[in-house]
Amino acid sequence: MCNFHSLDKYSVDTLSRWLTVLKSAYLKALTKLKSSFNFQLYYSGLNTKSNNFMKQRTLKQPIEVIGVGLHSGREVTMILEPAGNDFGIHFLRTDIDNAPLIAADAFLVTDTVMSSNLVVDDIKIGTVEHLLSALAGLGIDNLLVKVSDVEIPIMDGSALNYVQLLLKAGITEQSAPKKFLKLLKTVRVEEGDKSAQLEPYDGFCLDFQIDFDHPSIPKDTQHYLFNFSIQNYIENVGNARTFGFMRDIEYLKDNNLARGGSLDNAIVLDEEGILNKDGLRHKDEFVRHKILDAIGDLYLAKYPLLAKFSAYKSGHGLNNKLVKTVYSDPNNFEIVTIDDTSILAVHYKI
Ligand SMILES: [Zn+2]
Repeated sequence: MCNFHSLDKYSVDTLSRWLTVLKSAYLKALTKLKSSFNFQLYYSGLNTKSNNFMKQRTLKQPIEVIGVGLHSGREVTMILEPAGNDFGIHFLRTDIDNAPLIAADAFLVTDTVMSSNLVVDDIKIGTVEHLLSALAGLGIDNLLVKVSDVEIPIMDGSALNYVQLLLKAGITEQSAPKKFLKLLKTVRVEEGDKSAQLEPYDGFCLDFQIDFDHPSIPKDTQHYLFNFSIQNYIENVGNARTFGFMRDIEYLKDNNLARGGSLDNAIVLDEEGILNKDGLRHKDEFVRHKILDAIGDLYLAKYPLLAKFSAYKSGHGLNNKLVKTVYSDPNNFEIVTIDDTSILAVHYKI
C-alpha cells in the first residue's frame, strides 16, 4: 500500500518528476481540448445539417458620409445603419417627416434617365445604383440607408468611396442564411439594337459589350467579362467612374440633371479626347463602369444572382426591364441558399 510517509527521498523525487510530467501532459491535453472545443464551437454553426449555409451580412456599426448629389448639386448626408436578418436594403429620407421606407426593389423604379430612381408615396430617392453596386459587390444583404436629400451622394462617380466606407464600418455575418436568386431559364429583353440577358449559371458572371465611336474608347476596350468575387469587384470594377459627353451637357442642364457633375465625379469626353487631366483608371474604364452599373441595377432583384448576365449597349432602363421580366414568371427562377463550403462561397470571402 502506498504511503507518502513511507517513501524514501529517491521515491519522493521520482514521484515529483512524474507529477511534473503528468501536470504538463494534463495542461497540454487541456489546451488541446480547449482549442478543439473552440474549433467545434466555431464550425458547429456551419457544419450542422440545419446551419450549413452562407450567412446574411450587415455592417458592424453605423457610418456617415457627406457628399454632393450628382443631379441636384446639393450637399447630402448619408448614414448607413446595420439592419436585422431579412430586412434587405431600404432607404429613408431624413429630410421628410414620417417618410416611408423605400425598398431597393426593381418594381419601385420610376425613371431611369441617367440614373435609377425609386419612389414610394411620391417620395423619391435617386441615383441609387452605385451604392447598390457596392453593397452587392461586398455581399451586404441588410442595411438601412438614411439620406438627407433626394439622391445618394455621387462621391467620385464610382463605387470606390462606398466600398471604403463599408469596409471601414466593418462587415459582420448574421444568423439567417444568405438567399440567392437562381435563374432557371434564359430571360432576354431587347430595345432596338440594345439587349440584356440572364441565363442559368453556377455563379455570377457579367459579359458586357459597349459600342462607342470615339478616339478615347478604342474598340478593343469595349468588352469586359467579369467573374464575380468580392476581391475582383474591389480591384477591377468598383473604382470605374461614370462618364459623359460634353455634347450631352446642354440636354442634361435643360432637364435639371448633372448640376453637381464635375471632373471630380465623372470622366468627361469632348469630340477629341478625355478632359480629366489624370486620364483613366483602367484603359477600359467605360465598359467596367457599365458592369458596375449593371451589378447595382441587378441588385434591385433584392437578392444576389446565380446567373450569367450578357448585355449589348444596355443601360439602367433595360437592366430594370430584365429584372422585372425575370419576376414575371415564377418558372424563371427560384430563391435558394448555398452551402458554405461551395466554390461560390469562396467568391464571397472578404
Ligand atoms: Zn453609373
